[in-house]
Amino acid sequence: MLAGMHQYIGGERRAGSTGESFDVLDPSTDEVLESVTLAGPDDVDTAVASAKAAYAEWSRATPVERAAVLTRAAALLDERAEELAQLESRQAGKPIRLAREFDVPGTVDNTAFFGAAARRLDGMASGEYSGDHTSSIRREPIGVVGSIAPWNYPLQMAAWKVLPAIAAGNTIVLKPAEITPLTALPFAEAFTEAGAPPGVVNVVTGTGPVAGEHLVAHRDVAMTSFTGSTAVGRRVMATAAATGKRVHLELGGKAPLVVFDDADLEAAVHGAVAANLINAGQDCTAAARAIVHRSVYDEFVRGVADLYAEVRMGPTADPATDLGPLSSRAHLAKVAGMVDRARAYAKVVCGGAPPTGELARGCYLEPAVVTDVPLDSEIWRDEVFGPVLVVVPFDDDDKAIRLANDTEFGLAASAWTRDTYRAGRASREIEAGCVWVNDHIPIISEMPHGGYKSSGFGKDMSAYSFDEYTNVKHVMHDITGVAHKPWHRTIFTLPGQG
Ligand code: NAD
Repeated sequence: MLAGMHQYIGGERRAGSTGESFDVLDPSTDEVLESVTLAGPDDVDTAVASAKAAYAEWSRATPVERAAVLTRAAALLDERAEELAQLESRQAGKPIRLAREFDVPGTVDNTAFFGAAARRLDGMASGEYSGDHTSSIRREPIGVVGSIAPWNYPLQMAAWKVLPAIAAGNTIVLKPAEITPLTALPFAEAFTEAGAPPGVVNVVTGTGPVAGEHLVAHRDVAMTSFTGSTAVGRRVMATAAATGKRVHLELGGKAPLVVFDDADLEAAVHGAVAANLINAGQDCTAAARAIVHRSVYDEFVRGVADLYAEVRMGPTADPATDLGPLSSRAHLAKVAGMVDRARAYAKVVCGGAPPTGELARGCYLEPAVVTDVPLDSEIWRDEVFGPVLVVVPFDDDDKAIRLANDTEFGLAASAWTRDTYRAGRASREIEAGCVWVNDHIPIISEMPHGGYKSSGFGKDMSAYSFDEYTNVKHVMHDITGVAHKPWHRTIFTLPGQG
């Protein structure tokens, strides 16, 4: 990393102009990894101007040219996979296995996918709908996109924001989360190295209230794409309203995992543990609320608690580590506080406290299972975003679906059953952007990701994301050559036609 140069603007590393810096910590030890110079409004203005200047050329690049850049960038990122995995693991506190097997390959695959998708940005086929005109649809880029990303999957979130935007011919200014800005920089550099004109991808590393808010409010930014908490997303939408720009919001989640009485219980227990603990539970689609048929409830709770006891918490660099720390001390305090408060009104079956010994230096938390929760309690209703699984029983399918939908969020859900009719009903009736059947978490580049309800709107990944990042233009072409069109009768009264 170039010392002090934490802005990437116009194809170059620069220092932030605020004169202020922010220490990026390794949450597994709380040691300083790097002191980042912070961007302020001036840096955002420069980055937006650079993106605006690059737009003329990039928006006119042919699909083949854009695809070539993305495909080359995918290869460059793949060559640097280990370096990226190490950096991502350290700044976000991810077990290295997760960074190596999920974050980095997922990002490379996404980049390759959008390299291919850039060549299939078709409008609707032409046709003579009026009889006298040929109508056709053009899909055009929007302009400069301002994107804001969270800290849980810094590299993947940068990719999800940047890739569809630039594949569609937009240029972008990305603001990563202040606590995890380090991998977004080499990610952005790969596109310039792969042949994108300088200014197509820019990164400003600054705080949300300063750099983020300025980016959202900027008059030359045509669209805001935001991934983060629901509270900040609503504020972003309000700020964007002042300039009336397009907004795409990927917000919080509180995913239900519904286990019917005919489910393969071993699969459901393993699925719940993996889907609750992935990325230490800091995953917007993580299974947060297990809704379990009463006949298998006790066995399910016991099975999850037993597996939690076997999960290896450890140093993030150790390939044997299953569970790493939470991303920051502040977030650890928030999650541990929610579990502590739950002890007064619910039953904490296991976990929920920081470990002792060597790991106490970092932001670790023993994974928790919480039962006997009132349905108006914060642990049931609010996003915890940590290794905490709340389990409630149900007696009939109607209740299971009602409980699944008993949330303001609607990002993801899963249904565990061998009954195809139950699976069909759950897929239809659970209000969420993704419903898995007999699994929970897998994502693929070809399929969309996005929320219902307070989880936001718009799609990341897949060709559906182009709906966010393009304007649809109708071109209507007269094919008659007639000077006096029949519809002119509404304006000109023709002789003899009164
Ligand atoms: P956050 O909302 O605190 O911050 C997200 C980003 O917004 C950061 O870059 C931050 O600097 C910026 N920001 C803060 N205030 C701002 C302001 N006033 N104007 C503009 N930008 C501002 O979220 P977080 O804590 O970084 O991430 C965790 C949240 O993200 C969770 O709620 C999680 O569910 C959500 N998330 C959602 C998805 C999804 O796809 N739906 C994916 C990942 C994370």
